[in-house]
Amino acid sequence: MKLLINGIQSNLRFSSAHVIPGHESCGFIHGHSYFVDVEIEGERAGEFDFVVDFKDVKKYTKAICDELDHRLLIPVYNKLIDFKDFDKKSDSIFDLKKEGSVHFKIDGKGYSIPAEDCIFLPLPYSSAEELSKFFAETLARKLSETYDNLEYVSVCVNEGIGQGAMYRKDL
Ligand SMILES: [Zn+2]
Repeated sequence: MKLLINGIQSNLRFSSAHVIPGHESCGFIHGHSYFVDVEIEGERAGEFDFVVDFKDVKKYTKAICDELDHRLLIPVYNKLIDFKDFDKKSDSIFDLKKEGSVHFKIDGKGYSIPAEDCIFLPLPYSSAEELSKFFAETLARKLSETYDNLEYVSVCVNEGIGQGAMYRKDL
């Protein structure tokens, strides 16, 4: 059986700034009011014959939304983002969080931003495509700690109404 959670109606939303390095129009810092739809398929099981408890799905998804909300999303492994004092190959992303400010260049354009204003993602892009994969994998990992009856977790990250990317993580 399949469960659906509507992000707008269930308040699974976040508003963030991002940039797609090298893109003609999205290469400038801009923002979106995102919302996140979730679809989960699995066998009904347990005391209540649920596929999964809606409350758990909403709690875990909301926790990811809250991490990203009101931050600049930085895809640390983007090829065009050149960090000062940070080596993508050897340094940990956790080190970036500890900095007072982060300094980087994109195509020669320099940025200096307080680290607390940013969320550093282990991704090549902060596109809807990469964010949906990030959400689906994180949510699937979290649900797998307590559920063993799920077939897949699919997440659609919408960049406002009318356009979104969906990623399915099979379990
Ligand atoms: Zn955008």
